[in-house]
Amino acid sequence: MLIPGVEPPFPLSWGFSTRLDEGGDLPARRLNQVHRCGVVEAGDAVVDADGLWTTRPGQRIGVRVADCVPILLAGPLPGGTPWVAALHAGWRGATGFGDPEPSGGILRRGVARFRALGGAPATLVWAFGPAILACHFEVGPEVIEAARQDPAWREDLQSTGPTGKPHLDLHAFLRAQALDLGLDPAQDGTVALCTVCRPDLLYSYRRGDTQGRQWGWVEIG
Ligand SMILES: [Zn+2]
Repeated sequence: MLIPGVEPPFPLSWGFSTRLDEGGDLPARRLNQVHRCGVVEAGDAVVDADGLWTTRPGQRIGVRVADCVPILLAGPLPGGTPWVAALHAGWRGATGFGDPEPSGGILRRGVARFRALGGAPATLVWAFGPAILACHFEVGPEVIEAARQDPAWREDLQSTGPTGKPHLDLHAFLRAQALDLGLDPAQDGTVALCTVCRPDLLYSYRRGDTQGRQWGWVEIG
């Protein structure tokens, strides 16, 4: 599925795959995702990290998920050079829990990479893909406690589920971080589908898909 409603600042292909389209358009696998906050420039090697960025036209990059949030970012560097990134954010990645170098989470680290190259966060187009949403994301108190450390935390990002345990709204938590980082809410192309709710379309690890994954991918050009 392609991303609706936002105007990329340069020619861009991007999208979120489903269990229905596992064709040859998906990226080469370059990440061993480890639920941390490493964001690295994409090369040819496979690396242990949870985010990739590139300025190379035609290099399709992506992350594989089955409940965690795939995050896509695209914006211009000084001089107009296109920059794109794909990030993998479960609750550990989103909060930075267990991060050996504190980052405030993988979205904050990804945007910091863009800023370090001279990019302005307000110029980014961005999208969160299908993930386990607040309807199904029951979590333990340690998850809420980790999220509460974030400066953008609000208590309405959690709710009480049917069993009395908390549910975390991971999309809304990441959106609060995005706005705190200066991203433009008018440039948000998020696809708010729940992986647990849509077995017809999406893999969900928590629902029992231990092997299948969907991609969030992006390519300049
Ligand atoms: Zn759901």
